[in-house]
Formats: sequence, C-alpha cells, structure tokens
Amino acid sequence: MFKTETHLHTSEGSACASASGAQQAEQYKAMGYSTIFVTDHFINGNTAADRSLPWEQWVDAYCKGYENAKKRGEQIGLNVLFGIEYGWHGTDLLVYGIDKAWLKANPDIAQIPVQKFCKRVHLAGGMIVHAHPFRQEAYISELKFIPDHTDAVEIFNARNSMAVYNDRAKWYAEQFSLPVTAGTDCHDIGGSFSGITTDSEILSAEDYINAVLEGNVRIIY
Ligand SMILES: [Zn+2]
Ligand SMILES: [Zn+2]
Repeated sequence: MFKTETHLHTSEGSACASASGAQQAEQYKAMGYSTIFVTDHFINGNTAADRSLPWEQWVDAYCKGYENAKKRGEQIGLNVLFGIEYGWHGTDLLVYGIDKAWLKANPDIAQIPVQKFCKRVHLAGGMIVHAHPFRQEAYISELKFIPDHTDAVEIFNARNSMAVYNDRAKWYAEQFSLPVTAGTDCHDIGGSFSGITTDSEILSAEDYINAVLEGNVRIIY
C-alpha cells in the first residue's frame, strides 16, 4: 500500500504557506508517504511569485517550491510530482498532468474562460479535480460548479473547517457520478493529514490520473 499526498503548498510558491518545498518533502517522508504532488496557488490565486514578472520568469519563480521539494525528495527517497491549484474567483481547481513547459507555452491561461482552460488541460492529457467544492470561508464569494469540465471531486480535505463541507463534496460526486479523491491542502509543518492510498506506487501524474479515473484510490480520513 502506497500513500500519496495530492494537495500541498510550499512557501516558495504560495503566499499562505509556511513550509518550504524541502521541509514538505522531509515531513511527508517521515510520515511514510511515497509520493507528494506540489500544487501551489497559481497566478489567479494566492501565489508567492511576483505577478509583475514577465510570464516565463513568473513560471520559473512559481515552480521553485516544486523544484526544491523534488531535489530534496531525490536525496531522501520520495517521489515529488507537479500540479497546480488554479483559482477561478475563489473556486479552486487542482490540475495534474501538465508541466512547466506547458505553462510557459500557454501564457493566457489565467485570462481565458475557465471552461476553455479545462478544455486545454484535457487536450494536453491532464486531469482537473474540483478542490473542496463546498468550503465556505471569507475568501470564497460564491460556490460554483462545472461538473462537465472537471474530472473528479476532492471529497475529503483535511483543512476544511467543518465536516459538512466534506459530506457535501461526497454528495456532489455521487450526484454527478464523478470519481473521487482526497488531499490535505497542507501549508505548514504538522496538523492533520489526508491523501490517498493505492496498491501500486504513484510514480507519475499519469499513474495518479489513471488511478483516480479508474476508481483505484482509497481515501485517507
Ligand atoms: Zn493557501
Ligand atoms: Zn490548496
């Protein structure tokens, strides 16, 4: 059985995170996870990278947390994979299966309609997970859903402040027959953790995408 974190932030990439990429790698290795995805807040979310930078330089700065986590992961034996948390006016979408080169080649993705963004990710073979769809906090002005454009639902998020937000997410996934997954939304060292377990090790974004779409992930509650 292999443990994977699907939703994690670094202080290099996300303004609200206190743990660096290297610290995150160490923390998850110590807890027995075999894989982590770094999903920092994108330019339309709470990014730590300077928004005034030209696009390619912004992408380089944005990917720093992932790269530092990956470097440390290689030293200690932890798979570190890339993802992003795309902000749609307070609604968060976790995206897997795209990389730094794809971001550089798509400089307009924060400006185009979200449905077009999803189509472009799918053309690239990526997967979109609606993160904590029923979370209600001051920074979220409205709950929005695009079930025809998202591939799966995060039905358990360890950072939701109320259990009912997770219960509703599970209901939403059932109503629309969407595959399910879970994540911690980890920003710091310590706290409570989630993620998924699988029978085979997640070594690539493609492994994770297939596991989710085929229903081969178990939720860590
Ligand atoms: Zn955050
Ligand atoms: Zn997050």
